[in-house]
Amino acid sequence: MSNALNDDFEDVRVSVRALCAGFPGEYWRALDRERAYPEAFVKAMTDAGFLAVLIPEAYGGSGLGLSAAAAILEEIHKSGANAAACHAQMYMMGTILRHGSDAQKQTYLPQVASGALRLQAFGVTEPTSGTDTAAIKTTARRDGDFYVVNGQKVWTSRAEHSDLMLLLARTSSAEEGAKRHDGLSVFLVDMREAVGHGLTIRPIRAMINHATTEVFFDDLRIPASNLIGEEGKGFRYILDGMNAERILIAAECVGDARWFIAKATSYANERIVFGRPIGQNQGIQFPIARAFAESEAADLMAKKAAALFDAGVPCGAEANMAKMLASEASWHAAEMCLQTHGGFGFAEEYDIERKFRETRLYQVAPVSTNLILSYVAEHVLGLPRAF
Ligand SMILES: Cc1cc2nc3c(=O)[nH]c(=O)nc-3n(C[C@H](O)[C@H](O)[C@H](O)COP(=O)(O)OP(=O)(O)OC[C@H]3O[C@@H](n4cnc5c(N)ncnc54)[C@H](O)[C@@H]3O)c2cc1C
Repeated sequence: MSNALNDDFEDVRVSVRALCAGFPGEYWRALDRERAYPEAFVKAMTDAGFLAVLIPEAYGGSGLGLSAAAAILEEIHKSGANAAACHAQMYMMGTILRHGSDAQKQTYLPQVASGALRLQAFGVTEPTSGTDTAAIKTTARRDGDFYVVNGQKVWTSRAEHSDLMLLLARTSSAEEGAKRHDGLSVFLVDMREAVGHGLTIRPIRAMINHATTEVFFDDLRIPASNLIGEEGKGFRYILDGMNAERILIAAECVGDARWFIAKATSYANERIVFGRPIGQNQGIQFPIARAFAESEAADLMAKKAAALFDAGVPCGAEANMAKMLASEASWHAAEMCLQTHGGFGFAEEYDIERKFRETRLYQVAPVSTNLILSYVAEHVLGLPRAF
């Protein structure tokens, strides 16, 4: 199933497809069963330089930009694989790139580009605050040349497979600032030093194989030099990175949708019931055609958002809408694909039930659909603020 817009970054796409061919369904199925980390896949992605496309050449990356990164992630998901184990290594360094000091950039970016350091754990969500980020309770108190961190995060994905964590913590109370989000600060936590010295990581067994964890901070001391940017401005810094994340997740969802559609189309052509291919029945054809139309539309929005991002112009509305539309398109395609396969959709060896579980995540994380609708209603349409 080709279309002209998929010719963007075709050389990159061809290389990604070749890499993914070495990691077929059996590989992902075995990991899924064990809830194990795809170490070999992540190493191959790192060695090929695919995780460094957003890092400028001056720091050892290829500086290809977000549209290229989106093409890479889409291809991974279109192949039946899952990039969630390493996609954050691509974009989390953006907070250092945009807001870090020269010393921080020189220290960390080349090592993130080479893969010598993994920066792919993001500690924002807490058990009691949920989506209301201003309500986080984890604190970082200044003590001489250190900050002392106390609190808890939940759903901190890849913490066991990352050297560094980007942490959002309160350095002053919400009441002290003009806005509720004031007083939040961003830190780089070196987890190699921190584990066992005030940082505890506990895996969460989840519906999907996502290496997600909860983390506990108990008087963890981190050097004051690990503060990124200015104290109290962390929420803004985090927001700056969210558009990139949403666009990249949208690309993964488009890839998932295309995988489900290809799988369903092929099965509908082959499966004979009542003496004819099931795909001859419009009851089977129409859901496939609808899923195709939805995924193509979502892809256009994702490409528009990526192009705006790469041009350095505001793209909050497009990034949010792309993520919402693509996560819905991939879910509808998943549901269609499972139904098209009948009972076989439930068999592990078809990979559909795994991808079905995996793609469901994206209507919840990194931001849930209601919060996107609320953003569009308030910030794009000018409707009254709800909360
Ligand atoms: C597998 C997985 C991996 C994750 N990885 C990370 C990670 O690496 N780092 C990290 O920081 N977080 C991570 N998250 C957390 C994720 O970002 C949150 O789960 C998500 O933002 C939703 O927050 P919540 O679960 O607290 O839901 P809640 O905020 O409790 O919301 C529950 C439901 O209520 C809805 N809702 C809440 N308020 C409103 C409102 N005012 N109006 C309408 N609807 C509302 C929400 O849309 C949602 O559907 C991960 C989550 C999962 C499941």
